[in-house]
Amino acid sequence: MRIIDPRPAGSLRFMAGVYFESEHLRGIMANEKLSFTLTTSTPQSADETTPRGALQKEKVIIIGSGPAGLTAALYTARAQLHPLVIAGHELGGQVSLTYEIENYPGFPEPMTGQELVERMKSQAERFGARINLFSAVTEVDFSRQGGPFYLKTDDGNEYEAEAVIVSAGATHRHLNVPGEKEYTGNGVSYCATCDGFFFRDKEVVVVGGGDSALEEALFLTRFARRVSIVHRRDELRAGKTLQKRAFANDKIEFIWNTVVESVNGERNVQSVTLRDVLTDEIREFATDGVFIFVGHDPNSDIYAGQLERDAFGYVITDREMRTSVEGVFAAGEIQDRLFRQVGTSVGQGTAAAMSCERWLAEREAEREDERETELAASQETPVAG
Ligand code: NAP
Repeated sequence: MRIIDPRPAGSLRFMAGVYFESEHLRGIMANEKLSFTLTTSTPQSADETTPRGALQKEKVIIIGSGPAGLTAALYTARAQLHPLVIAGHELGGQVSLTYEIENYPGFPEPMTGQELVERMKSQAERFGARINLFSAVTEVDFSRQGGPFYLKTDDGNEYEAEAVIVSAGATHRHLNVPGEKEYTGNGVSYCATCDGFFFRDKEVVVVGGGDSALEEALFLTRFARRVSIVHRRDELRAGKTLQKRAFANDKIEFIWNTVVESVNGERNVQSVTLRDVLTDEIREFATDGVFIFVGHDPNSDIYAGQLERDAFGYVITDREMRTSVEGVFAAGEIQDRLFRQVGTSVGQGTAAAMSCERWLAEREAEREDERETELAASQETPVAG
């Protein structure tokens, strides 16, 4: 199998696993039944002439390329701020892994998350946004209120920015049970869109009771013979529409008040050990795969001590998306614990970009005033005697 560039819209679903999920990639690449020639196109660089390691000066840097980041890129690009997006290793973040998006206004027909992200990306690029694919921010220095701000990326580049919009999103949670890590890529997955294909006519377990669990379980019914949703309560967190669809699907069954204690197998997953939380009864449940959708945590570790965060690690912003550091704004799932929708992320990205633009303009005007005052003072004729 030859994968040339996993980015174009409409690429094989399997490619999404390669491109977006390094955990899946490790497992998939380890599968001896598949052979790969993996070549990727050269990552777009913000400035092809800047030598690696040199400090690259930018007006606005946007960290992350989900709906919030790409929207912030669109708005700041249209404001002639020539933004640089450091995309991270998963263009589009979580939304790219969503098989169908049905609740984003303006698109009455469902579309894949990957398609939506590609559209957002090309729209931002049309107005001059530059998007650095395959590179992620590893270190920031936001210690100076009002900037400049310093960023390092994992490809060895260093940046100085006048303003930063942090939209690094969130990452799926793990169950942290024995066997989970070991079988990731060999039966344990966090992405039905990427890996569902491998479970044709198989039996799978989905863990979780939120929108993601139900949405992905429904998607898995296209392939799997049976999908068993294991949920720790007897009530779902997911929205009513998804619930109705899941209950109506013959291939889906629910295992209530139950948690996964371990994932078991030999080379691949063969079963999970389940515990009924009401009776403490333990049983072995045969399955070929385990799909885990138990929520997300914000990707905010590198901002610890730099930006104010809440008890759960979400970056704190005000209504104008300003963080605790003047000149640094945040948008999307890294600061939104409550809604986490494409629509809300787009709105927050818009607000962050507009606040950023206003802040830069006001600061420029203040600096202009200061320059004029200094010039006037230097030109004043000294009064004699
Ligand atoms: P979520 O809403 O936080 O749900 C996580 C689920 O996992 C909950 O049912 C939770 O159980 C369960 N869980 C958490 N930790 C667990 C553990 N250690 N063991 C077993 N179960 C555990 O996360 P999500 O489903 O990923 O959704 C995240 C956000 O994205 C939500 O705001 C959601 O509305 C949104 N979203 C929307 C759509 C859509 O609109 N189509 C699609 C996907 C996601 P409890 O219920 O008992 O807490």
